[in-house]
Amino acid sequence: MKLTVVGSSGSISGPESAASCYLLQAHDGDRTWQVLLDLGPGAVGQAMRYVDPAQVDAVLVSHLHADHIADLAGLEVLIRYGPGAPRPPVPVYGPVGTRARIVQLCGESGDPDHAFTVTTWQPGTPVHVGPFVIEPFEVEHPVPAYAMRITGPSAESAGTRVLTYTGDTDHCAGVTLAARDAHVLLSEAAFQEERDQVRGIHLTGLRAGQLATAARAGRLILTHIPPWTCAATVRTEATGTYAGPIEVAEPGATWLI
Ligand SMILES: [Zn+2]
Repeated sequence: MKLTVVGSSGSISGPESAASCYLLQAHDGDRTWQVLLDLGPGAVGQAMRYVDPAQVDAVLVSHLHADHIADLAGLEVLIRYGPGAPRPPVPVYGPVGTRARIVQLCGESGDPDHAFTVTTWQPGTPVHVGPFVIEPFEVEHPVPAYAMRITGPSAESAGTRVLTYTGDTDHCAGVTLAARDAHVLLSEAAFQEERDQVRGIHLTGLRAGQLATAARAGRLILTHIPPWTCAATVRTEATGTYAGPIEVAEPGATWLI
């Protein structure tokens, strides 16, 4: 499978990037399957660089904070009024309340029930989208939030590979379970040690490194770094707690997993 960073900015969109959005693609049978992980502000436009957003096989939503879902309103407009409109509905998977949140985002003139089919995550129940198997794990954040453990076809061999996306979370049992032995751990690291002492919301670079080590992840990609935070500082924190390869997600970056 191929991971492409559509937007990596944390908490809000930034001068160099849309907010949270990642494209995952894999070939199976005679076509390429593609899913978007979250759809933050600015992400629909940036996703057009790589895919027709109205044609993705699913949008997988980690939680309902605006910086992860605001562009579902943009996608609804694209499905209703864009080329070939109206397009078939796009499946959306998310926490309890996802449909109501989309209705809220789209406003009275929106028509989200024709744009989306919404399914609620059930912890412990995997979701199948083409060749992808997505397992949601409850994590620690101020609202219901999920990490996603995604198993899909290897880009390099006949077997499968695992990508774990943390969504937003502090270090907790759920995210460690989601990330166990993952080949790639795409981890938020919005906070900085010392500067951000509140717990139960976000990881830091240090704690993302601890997570990667505890889970025996093969590679750590740090993301969700807000525009006011120095990515190099976050990365340096992670190098102190994780000995494997560490990178910082930037728009357009890709990995063959
Ligand atoms: Zn959040």
